[in-house]
Amino acid sequence: MAIKLWQDSYRMVVMSGHDRPSTNRKTGPMAQTWIMPLASSPTEAVKTGKDALVCGDCPLRGDGKGGERLCYLNLGKGPNGIYRSVVDKDVEDLPNHPFGVRLGAWGDPVYLPRTLLKKVVKGKSHVGYTHQWMKKSAQWLRPYCMASVDDLMAKKVGMNVKDLARHAWGMGWRTFRITHAPGENWDKKEVDCPHLTHGVQCKDCGLCKGASEALSISNPIHGRGAKWYPYQATAIGNTSTKPASSTTTG
Ligand code: SF4
Repeated sequence: MAIKLWQDSYRMVVMSGHDRPSTNRKTGPMAQTWIMPLASSPTEAVKTGKDALVCGDCPLRGDGKGGERLCYLNLGKGPNGIYRSVVDKDVEDLPNHPFGVRLGAWGDPVYLPRTLLKKVVKGKSHVGYTHQWMKKSAQWLRPYCMASVDDLMAKKVGMNVKDLARHAWGMGWRTFRITHAPGENWDKKEVDCPHLTHGVQCKDCGLCKGASEALSISNPIHGRGAKWYPYQATAIGNTSTKPASSTTTG
């Protein structure tokens, strides 16, 4: 059962999976936090541009009118249902639970209140990713989250993706870089996600928890067909390479 952990006038933070953890094959059983707009359901927010309240200027969120969205997450079922189940409820205390935590199953962790994030991850393994890592206001997240790096973001800021990753490393971030195919880690600072190479689940891996001495992660594009080809076409003008197996974080 999802519970509301926090809200202000614009957003709310929701936890799910603490009582019945996700069955996601990649993450394994983990609790999840969701950062959602308060006044509209996730799918409605995507159509009206209110998703910017929780996605910032993530290049995968689309045109702000419901079009060109390339985010791997399908908002229509789980996230809408979670929204409806808690939007009118009161804020509750953080529950005790034995699971690791995925920050921002939808919504960028930069929109979590810092004190809440610290409480949520205290004594837990966690994974988290942010597309807002270039912003001054996001630098506090470096010890907790990976900097998301992909072709679309590179295109948006006018850099090539390698230089974008190097830029993130120079700022002190570890990166989670979306690649086009397995094994495409081109820098000794990166390694393929161990789920891809060894079937390790996030709950046991814990490499995506922010700045440390560990290597950065490279991982093929999320999802299959429907999102893959538009991503390729938009980001690099190429739809010829086949997608890798489905992945679900980052
Ligand atoms: S590298 Fe990150 S995404 Fe891959 S298994 Fe480890 S925690 Fe999960």
